[in-house]
Amino acid sequence: MKGITMNTVIYDPASRINLLEYGIEVPLLDSRTGQLLNQIRKSLHQLELVEIDFPSFTPEELLLVHDHAWVDWLCNHPDKAAWLTWELRAADGSWHRYDPEKAARPLSDLIETTIRMASGTWVGAQTALEKGFSYVLGGGFHHAMAHGGAGFCLVNDIALTIAKLRQDKPQARCWVIDVDVHKGDGTAQITQHDPMTGTLSIHMADGWPLDLPEDDPTRLSSRVPSTVDIPLKAGDEDIYQEKLQEGLIKLKSALPNPDLVIVVAGSDPYEKDALPSANGINMSREQLLERDLWLYDTFAKWELPQTWVMAGGYGEFAWEIHSAFLEALNKRGL
Ligand SMILES: [Zn+2]
Repeated sequence: MKGITMNTVIYDPASRINLLEYGIEVPLLDSRTGQLLNQIRKSLHQLELVEIDFPSFTPEELLLVHDHAWVDWLCNHPDKAAWLTWELRAADGSWHRYDPEKAARPLSDLIETTIRMASGTWVGAQTALEKGFSYVLGGGFHHAMAHGGAGFCLVNDIALTIAKLRQDKPQARCWVIDVDVHKGDGTAQITQHDPMTGTLSIHMADGWPLDLPEDDPTRLSSRVPSTVDIPLKAGDEDIYQEKLQEGLIKLKSALPNPDLVIVVAGSDPYEKDALPSANGINMSREQLLERDLWLYDTFAKWELPQTWVMAGGYGEFAWEIHSAFLEALNKRGL
């Protein structure tokens, strides 16, 4: 792959998810994607917008990274899989942020649509291998572990994409650059024994998922180290960029020359993010744009194919971060 030939944004209208339609009250708004699409169609004409049917993952493909028990839940007990992933039941069995009365669609539809959206990351990877860069409107389910969903992440699209790539190219080396504000714990857990995958996660040192109580069975899994972990505390915003740069150099020396880079481009470190558990780091729009453009330029300079997925970003302002990055790419043209 020699450089970037096109800045391509890909999306599948049938994989868009509005959690409120399922009676789930989490501020992960479908309007984030809707506003981006409006902006791209209206004014970002230097970007190539590709509308494509994501193929979804078959149960056999899900088994490449998830264990049998979890795939069985996904296929045969979708309601239970949704309760666990979106944390819909409190310890006493009552509903938590979920009102079945307000649901217009069944949870089994949510499972199906989420797995379809997850496969968009694999489509994004193939596009990046061909054109140098792709931006997927969706994906980034980095908390999903081998044994089950967690933190609004049902299946791990990042690990699945790496596993799919290996079917074509068994020796493929991959980097996962996870800049979502929460640690990329599921990706670290699934890829921990894979010497050909290097993971970098820059995240809140405190708070979810690193503050899980001792008796929570996922606690140990959440603490599996990434190849490079960069934990930051509140007030570290000014050294974020410097730490990220140092971390990338460490990753490069641990696993040089990757065939593919997957950027888990969460916007939830944003100071205007609405999720309380994302408020441990509060970056400005300018700081996050600097982060995103620096990553893009670095991978372009090193001639590494890069696919970006959106990951976390909550509330009515989350779209601004993704938008600022795409707008900057559009302004540059190609
Ligand atoms: Zn997050």
